[in-house]
Amino acid sequence: MPELPEVETVRAGLAARVVGRTVADVEVLHPRSVRRQPGGATDLAARLRGRTLTAAVRRGKYLWLTYGEDVAAAPDEALLAHLGMSGQLLVQEPDGARASIGEPGMVAAAVGDPGRFLAAPGERPLDLTATLPPTLVRTIPATTAHLRARLTFHDGGQLWFVDQRTFGHLMAVGTVPTDDGAAGGLGSDAPVLPAPVAHIARDLLDPALDRAALVRRTRTRRTEVKRALLDQSLVSGVGNIYADEALWRARLHGARRTDRLSPARLGELFDAAAEVMREALAVGGTSFDALYVDVEGAAGFFARSLAVYGRAGLPCPRCGAPVRREQFMNRGSFSCPRCQRRPAAG
Ligand SMILES: [Zn+2]
Repeated sequence: MPELPEVETVRAGLAARVVGRTVADVEVLHPRSVRRQPGGATDLAARLRGRTLTAAVRRGKYLWLTYGEDVAAAPDEALLAHLGMSGQLLVQEPDGARASIGEPGMVAAAVGDPGRFLAAPGERPLDLTATLPPTLVRTIPATTAHLRARLTFHDGGQLWFVDQRTFGHLMAVGTVPTDDGAAGGLGSDAPVLPAPVAHIARDLLDPALDRAALVRRTRTRRTEVKRALLDQSLVSGVGNIYADEALWRARLHGARRTDRLSPARLGELFDAAAEVMREALAVGGTSFDALYVDVEGAAGFFARSLAVYGRAGLPCPRCGAPVRREQFMNRGSFSCPRCQRRPAAG
């Protein structure tokens, strides 16, 4: 499952590539992909047709595109994209699409690693990378096999929602004001966010995050610290991989209780989580797998940098003790038995 760094990579790609474009048409090719849309595919299309996409915004692992008639006004609606296990957003440019959709040889750039479009065989690739960081450049083969929905813009370009397992979905919904009056997420100054995301807390990379308040709230939860890290209503965007890595960096066992940790220790833990996600983001796109094929969510691009996650039995990079694997919330938890002492029971 994509985690915050992967979703942020997609957001940055969308901001560069589809914001400012006007939707001419919407096609839904699989009903599961709009299962949360109250009026289904017809409703989704009616809400988006003729509207201009104004911003690509992210909070935690949630991603949305705002749209409206007036770019300056706070958007009252947004297209929420949930990527699920295998969802991708791809941009198909009219210039790059020398072959018709579905024809072998056509290549679309993944949003998130936007850039080069390979033209049909024998033609010169169209390089759109000039304005983008090189780490965001990637090309992937386009296929209509798992194409679930697509937006066609007035200029002929398209945004594809490709989702092999159909756990992801698209939903055009109304927005609500943020409870603190600050921007709804990264990518827009508008103090609104889609209603279904209203209960999702700010993430650790959000400039509007009140870190001291987060530490205070976490201590009052009186729960295991790993459970708190994964609680999207407390702090969003931290998944299993980054939780384990952050706990290792902070030398904390995930079963430590939040009310028995000092504010300074909790602050260190949140800083470690932010740091590990920033590092993952910095290398985003260099080798991460386009389909997120690992069910546990271990994104290949950052796997080489992981200290403990997925490394049971291998030496801790700090002390050499073999990394241990324990069960936690039906998933594997990885930690160092020497650097991260399990708390005494009770
Ligand atoms: Zn160790």
